[in-house]
Amino acid sequence: MKLNNQTAIITGAGKGIGKAIAELLAKEGVHVGLIARSSSDLEALQASLTQTYGIRAYIAAADVSNASEVEAAVASLKEQLGSIDILINNAGIAQFGTLVDMPPAEWERIIQVNLMGTYHVSRAVLPTMIAQNSGSIINVASTAGERGFATGSAYCASKFAVLGLTESLLQEVRKFNIRVTALTPSTVNTELAVNAGLKIGDEDRMMQPEDVAELALATLKLPPRVFVKAAGIWTTNPQ
Ligand code: NAD
Repeated sequence: MKLNNQTAIITGAGKGIGKAIAELLAKEGVHVGLIARSSSDLEALQASLTQTYGIRAYIAAADVSNASEVEAAVASLKEQLGSIDILINNAGIAQFGTLVDMPPAEWERIIQVNLMGTYHVSRAVLPTMIAQNSGSIINVASTAGERGFATGSAYCASKFAVLGLTESLLQEVRKFNIRVTALTPSTVNTELAVNAGLKIGDEDRMMQPEDVAELALATLKLPPRVFVKAAGIWTTNPQ
């Protein structure tokens, strides 16, 4: 299946996994709409994608946890792209601490960005996909959405919830030929992992953002009749 000339919105596209997905989709000939909190983070990427791959790339600033900012950003990107075939809900944050030690505002912020962000962007994009009677949504979850661990209550709760949202939404929108899938990578070599102290072993053994981008692309290339519950990749064997 060719993705050439399709259109995609990617959140948290300024760095890490989101940036790698934007680059790989642009390489495939997909026109992209990039969302991040500040558009200055995206300007260099926009220029390099259009120059290197000859696709159209647009940018919009929005905090994904803010419904009205998300609605405005999606409306502006849709107008420029003309359609939205693909949505990559990638924007996310991580912070770890025991439930007792983590202040309520920090715990809630993780839910607001990782879960509510996925909800707000999906809600803004879905009417377009339903009207088109086609589409593909990929939610970047985590192995932390399948297995809890000490200090992970907020992050794991947010990612377990994203998987629940994914399965439920899939059942709602399958009839419109819209596929909803989650990716569940283990630790990936990005700022998020490094800042959270998740860096394991030497860099060669760590999964790279480009590996997750390849998984996203493989999922998007599956025939529309195929639905993937959650596609996972691991650096080491899952226990
Ligand atoms: P990153 O910190 O390198 O990049 C995250 C991106 O999301 C950044 O561009 C950031 O600006 C953006 N973002 C954060 N909060 C936002 C908000 N409120 N509104 C808009 N944009 C926002 O992190 P990453 O490792 O590339 O993470 C991307 C996704 O992958 C996250 O959902 C994360 O939970 C998930 N994930 C990461 C790992 C890992 O080990 N790095 C593993 C599994 C899943």
